[in-house]
Amino acid sequence: MRILIVEDEPKTASYVRKGLMEHGYVVDVATDGLDGLHLATTTSYDVILLDVMLPGVDGWAVLQGLRDKQQTPVLFLSALDQVDDRVKGLKLGADDYLVKPFAFSELLARVQNILRRGPVQREQVMRVADAACIGCTPQSSTSSDESLPALLAFPSRARKRRG
Ligand code: CA
Repeated sequence: MRILIVEDEPKTASYVRKGLMEHGYVVDVATDGLDGLHLATTTSYDVILLDVMLPGVDGWAVLQGLRDKQQTPVLFLSALDQVDDRVKGLKLGADDYLVKPFAFSELLARVQNILRRGPVQREQVMRVADAACIGCTPQSSTSSDESLPALLAFPSRARKRRG
């Protein structure tokens, strides 16, 4: 399994890289958006960990550029913790969104979850992201965290599991 980390903070990048390598993954690191997009579109990865706030081309643009070409699973890693940011990431076609700071164990679990389920149904993520806002009032949608658990739990509940 090969993973790309697009992250401009050396400490975070090396911490995540080291942990993933200890779990047997092959890991590449890009430290800006342009390099990240180049690697993502020229190399075959099983999952891409994508920071949002990057020098040059930001994570949103990297994901859009990537989605024009291929459906490699993407997990956003971002300090942007508003519901709107997370929904934006998911609507752009990300498979998951993890807010910094995070525990490595949670990152690993989310990566394994993405790898287990394989390529996600994009249309389903869009519908779930839209549906998550039905319960929120407009003024609370930027500050409330309440819709996120439902948003993130839904795709895994919807997965077809036997046994
Ligand atoms: Ca950053």
